[in-house]
Amino acid sequence: MIYTPANLAFKGWLLIQDKNILSIERGAPSPETEKAMDKIIDAGGKTLLPGFIDVHTHGGLGFCTMDADLERLKAIARRNAEHGVTSFLPTTLTDTRAATIHAIEAVTARIGVCDGGSKTVGIHLEGPYFNPMKAGAQDPDSIRRADKDEIRAFLNAGTIRLIAMAPEFPENLAAGDIFAAEGITVSAGHTNASYADLMTAAEHGYSQITHLYNGMGAFGHREPGTIGGALAIPAYTCEIICDNVHSHPATHRIAWKAKGSEKIILITDCIRPSGLPDGKYPFTDKEMVTVSEHGTNLRLDSGNLAGSALTMDRALVNFMANTGATLDEVWRCTSLNAARQIGISAETGSIEKGKLADLILLDDQYQVKMTMIEGEIVYQ
Ligand SMILES: [Zn+2]
Repeated sequence: MIYTPANLAFKGWLLIQDKNILSIERGAPSPETEKAMDKIIDAGGKTLLPGFIDVHTHGGLGFCTMDADLERLKAIARRNAEHGVTSFLPTTLTDTRAATIHAIEAVTARIGVCDGGSKTVGIHLEGPYFNPMKAGAQDPDSIRRADKDEIRAFLNAGTIRLIAMAPEFPENLAAGDIFAAEGITVSAGHTNASYADLMTAAEHGYSQITHLYNGMGAFGHREPGTIGGALAIPAYTCEIICDNVHSHPATHRIAWKAKGSEKIILITDCIRPSGLPDGKYPFTDKEMVTVSEHGTNLRLDSGNLAGSALTMDRALVNFMANTGATLDEVWRCTSLNAARQIGISAETGSIEKGKLADLILLDDQYQVKMTMIEGEIVYQ
């Protein structure tokens, strides 16, 4: 079955030339057409989706974006491809200016397709301009207000696609305008923003919510808070860590009802120990993280949740189970919505004529059987 924006899923085939989807057809190709092909991939009745796009992912296999190491970034990219990710944004943690710039430079050197791994399409700065009250696993000592000189230094590389900030501070609100003017997506995260703050932020470039429900002000019926604002204000597209640990399955159903199929982005927020056996591992050079319950529960010594070991294929399965929605309704939440938010949907994010052949094949258990990036099979 092929999932496209224009139709319900159908049986068919794609013609791929070089990096792009040349045509999308129903049924089967004629023998003459088959004869004219250089290569035929028999999908064997599996599900063909646009490759997953993970806009919020810190690392895995013991490696982290903050290591600022090209070989480690490549190892992360390869692991992502095994779980169906065709494009991703390596994501920083809140740290010093020097460490952040170091990470930006490393990711910048890694931009593009990676031999055997998913494509790096930019960098996501998670912080450092947050509300220390909602630090979560972010280093409270490095949290600060937005600073114009520092922003200029961050913007130098020209590869930031997404930044998360707490919009309740005037400096961070003004920073929203600066980043948005550069075409960078601005997300409200690790924030105690009120409903009114989020209304204002939407006029200063903020259009996304960092991991809805986590690291934010609670919902109230008289003060809807960050959660209420995220759900009620149409300007916001919400990230969700759909691992059933960071938030209850019922809250995913609420988000689905409130935001619909085009305003939710499933993310992994996976961190360094993701993909390693249960145990105790370094999180940053200051903190350790304990992984338990078969890689599903990752906590700092303080008890705070520290990202996840989730994968995008698992997130998709969980989200369908939690919402009761079908793949026809949900597939956008793992690709197209993210592509739109970070400004790459003209090239990728859906199965459409002319777009890049960034594709995945899933079996009937939604296990990734093949990952294709720009027409090349990178995982099988
Ligand atoms: Zn994160």
